[in-house]
Amino acid sequence: MTERLPQFAGDEYRDADGIVRVVREGLCHRCGACIGFCPVNTFDVRDGYPQPARECIHCNICVRVCSGLEVDYPAIGRALYGEGYRFGPLAGPVRSAWIAHAADESLRRNGSSGGVVTGALVHWWRTGRIRGAVVTDVDPDEPARGLGVVARTEEELRRSQQSRYTTAPTLAALQQIQNDDGPFAVVGLPCQVHSIRKRQLMDPRWGPRLPILIGLLCHYNLPWEAVRLAAETFAPRGARAVNIRSRHRDERGWPHNSLHIWYDDGSEWRTKLSPRGIFNVLSRLAPLGRCLLCLDAAAEFSDFAVGDPWIRGSTGRWKYEAPEGYSVVIVHTEHGQRLWQELIEEGAIRAFEIPPEEPVEGQSAMMTEKKERVPFRIRVRRRLGLPVPRYPMPLPATPPAQVRKEIVFWLTRLNTLWRPWQRLLLRIGCGPIGQWLVRRRDARRERLAQARACKGPPPTG
Ligand SMILES: Cc1cc2nc3c(=O)[nH]c(=O)nc-3n(C[C@H](O)[C@H](O)[C@H](O)COP(=O)(O)OP(=O)(O)OC[C@H]3O[C@@H](n4cnc5c(N)ncnc54)[C@H](O)[C@@H]3O)c2cc1C
Ligand code: SF4
Ligand code: SF4
Ligand code: SF4
Repeated sequence: MTERLPQFAGDEYRDADGIVRVVREGLCHRCGACIGFCPVNTFDVRDGYPQPARECIHCNICVRVCSGLEVDYPAIGRALYGEGYRFGPLAGPVRSAWIAHAADESLRRNGSSGGVVTGALVHWWRTGRIRGAVVTDVDPDEPARGLGVVARTEEELRRSQQSRYTTAPTLAALQQIQNDDGPFAVVGLPCQVHSIRKRQLMDPRWGPRLPILIGLLCHYNLPWEAVRLAAETFAPRGARAVNIRSRHRDERGWPHNSLHIWYDDGSEWRTKLSPRGIFNVLSRLAPLGRCLLCLDAAAEFSDFAVGDPWIRGSTGRWKYEAPEGYSVVIVHTEHGQRLWQELIEEGAIRAFEIPPEEPVEGQSAMMTEKKERVPFRIRVRRRLGLPVPRYPMPLPATPPAQVRKEIVFWLTRLNTLWRPWQRLLLRIGCGPIGQWLVRRRDARRERLAQARACKGPPPTG
């Protein structure tokens, strides 16, 4: 990371007031970076958002690290990948792709996918490569929310396992290591990786302090308000949620790991929907805000990114399905490739390589939404005079088929405007009708994948 990030253009956003403006304009995705990187701890966290609470020394670091406001893909891309970097490929620069799982069986079975993330962290911690990691746990005060923690023991690393599909200002935890040279790994969503790379470009001390960035694939995150609504809707009378897991496995194993809620009266509720099914329902309950303007599905600036192996085989079913679980890994940087090879050679991870196109084809719908439909949203918002994030590079054109998808997308989200609908939608979506609709959609996708496999690859030459 040698390239210096250009000074933030324009002065309309400055210091703590600039961050207040970012939040007011709906550009904040609640990554927590401004809170965590502020040298004098000016902000408190309120509902996941930064809120000025103490003196500000006007250094403007918070505004310059904010990836809700600006992501200079070319500057970060050149620093990481060299002059040849171009913004555009659906998953960013890809060095290799893998199907993998943690060699430790308990980590594999407790993971969201194949436990690769925590398998890697535990191995690096045991071998002394890192002193800890910035990860995301359940917020004990509000279990519908995630909380960033600096895990410094194996027990803390293990406790942070599994995805929380909910607001998590994880990077606020960086406040705890402002004066600690670590080294620490960070596990973050693509937007969180952007903020860290921005800080590393501004101040080289943050390079060796955070030498390993593991990204997570991300379609969107759910606002914690939608998760809380689910917890309240399915609560027995008078009971309060004490723990919520977005990706808890049932006895059938992966991919049957889905939303599970525990209440203070000892009862539990778990959805019968698949992880993708419940995600679809909950993502229609509250506005997705800044996530709808996000261009990065595959944490393009992380060392390697980890996701679920949502890849269909020639029968139309999941190609890499095992109850114990698998993760898909997309290696981005040269440093990431070295780290990955070592994890395999040192026995922490078991993996086999797959063609780099496979994970991209498997999740092409969400990746295409980010690279082709988000630019359309940004252009429309610009025309309407609404605030948009600054992306200082040309954005791809949007083909007409994607514009049609976009119209349907917005029609299915009109209900977020009217709260009484939301509980009803939740009950219908999680009940027999929703389960039937999800089964029907999955069967259709299986048939489509089968038909594509029968046709074979398009002719070449
Ligand atoms: C909001 C969100 C959206 C996602 N969307 C997709 C998707 O569209 N497609 C896909 O293939 N995969 C997606 N994933 C990634 C997937 O759910 C798994 O996290 C990934 O496969 C790693 O699984 P694992 O078993 O290897 O990791 P595990 O060993 O289970 O570790 C998971 C790690 O994720 C961290 N984490 C949990 N919640 C958050 C959070 N909210 N923010 C930051 N870090 C967190 C934990 O601290 C832990 O370190 C998403 C994850 C999240 C959190
Ligand atoms: S001290 Fe610096 S980082 Fe903190 S709020 Fe003020 S301008 Fe932002
Ligand atoms: S996007 Fe992140 S850095 Fe920007 S205001 Fe929100 S929490 Fe702060
Ligand atoms: S969609 Fe983008 S902005 Fe939203 S959580 Fe994922 S990476 Fe962050």
